[in-house]
Amino acid sequence: MLNQDHKDRITAAVDAAFDQQLHFTGELIRHPSVRTEEGSAQDFLYAAMRDRGFAMDRWELDEKALKEHIGYGPSTVTYDGVTNVVGTFTPEMERGKSLILNGHVDVVPVGPEDQWNRSPWDAAIIDGWMYGRGSGDMKAGLAANLFAFDAVRAAGLIPTGTIHFQSVVEEECTGNGSLSALMRGYTADAVIIPEPEENMLVRANVGVIWFKVRVAGKPTHVREMSEGFNAIDASYTVMEALRRLETEWNAERDEHLYFENVEHPINFNFGLIRGGDWPSSVPAWCEFDVRAALYPGVPAEKAWKAITDCLQESSKSLGTADAEVTANKTGFFSEGYVLEEGSTAELVLERCHQDVFDTPLETFTTPGYLDGRVFTLYGNMPTLVYGPISEAIHGFDERVNIESVRQITKSIALFIAEWCGVSEEEARTQNRI
Ligand code: ZN
Repeated sequence: MLNQDHKDRITAAVDAAFDQQLHFTGELIRHPSVRTEEGSAQDFLYAAMRDRGFAMDRWELDEKALKEHIGYGPSTVTYDGVTNVVGTFTPEMERGKSLILNGHVDVVPVGPEDQWNRSPWDAAIIDGWMYGRGSGDMKAGLAANLFAFDAVRAAGLIPTGTIHFQSVVEEECTGNGSLSALMRGYTADAVIIPEPEENMLVRANVGVIWFKVRVAGKPTHVREMSEGFNAIDASYTVMEALRRLETEWNAERDEHLYFENVEHPINFNFGLIRGGDWPSSVPAWCEFDVRAALYPGVPAEKAWKAITDCLQESSKSLGTADAEVTANKTGFFSEGYVLEEGSTAELVLERCHQDVFDTPLETFTTPGYLDGRVFTLYGNMPTLVYGPISEAIHGFDERVNIESVRQITKSIALFIAEWCGVSEEEARTQNRI
């Protein structure tokens, strides 16, 4: 365990560099790293890691190889030029446990920008919050990982275990970024992912499937409307069928550990819709994109079968040969996971959190996707998804709470020191930074 002197020095070092950390976080937010456009943000993080003396690795995602993995999510984009970045710190003599500090650099689209109170990319600080798309989800976390390490070093200590700093892509759509890092061989004794989790630890979360439904109708002139078949009208019927499936799955929440008390854990979202060609033509087609959720322990294939069966039934209920309902996978095809209670990693985090916040670490179940499933399900690593307070992630005026970021950074810094171990002696004799 850490002695009080080390703890005090580490947390003081976080405070001392905190303005610099906020500045760095702001810089990172100013890179609009939406899907396939993460390059400049990755350049920025690559340079920041290299400057810390880490051994650098950067590679393009290999879709062909990813496809072979059960955790792969079908991609609708090509991965040309889409890269992950990993910087590795290796101690002189490995004595402590190893650690992966992971974060995703991709952010979701901003939506109608005129509904933001300011530019989504200006990273303004107002009344204790830092604004911007990706501020909470999760560039504050990516920066916290690096500055937590800095604090250990600035405290005159050096970790005695290997640490991999990962900045991955594709977390918001397939999970293929973290999967690619795992397939490249990165493993450790524990993983921390500082997603915006309200200063709490994620105990369990859902899996997610993305798919596109296409309803084909029969086009006619509107004057002969009854002879046609309206694909847009029919889509409502298909959506209602999916809503009924969602209700069924929510009714089963009592059968799933950690989900009994979650209000509506299974959310189906109709996130995109397009259809028709002309106001005076009965529409021949309508397409909509769905994000569905599944409980941990339910194989994605099983959930997919239930979804496609539901779509087939609804197709029959349309009562005409003129209609056709088809579906394709378009992204996430992932299972949920549970963080087993009582791991050593969790006990260490509990101590670090208590030291910083002066309150016990709380755990909770979240109905959203997390890359934690990659490390947990396929790497068998205890994965702590734990990060700052945020508001409006994926919405307008996304923001992250600055004091919370400071505390989370302290907590991660103490975790690094206790988990990996630290040496004062080696820090003195080495000029590693
Ligand atoms: Zn996120």
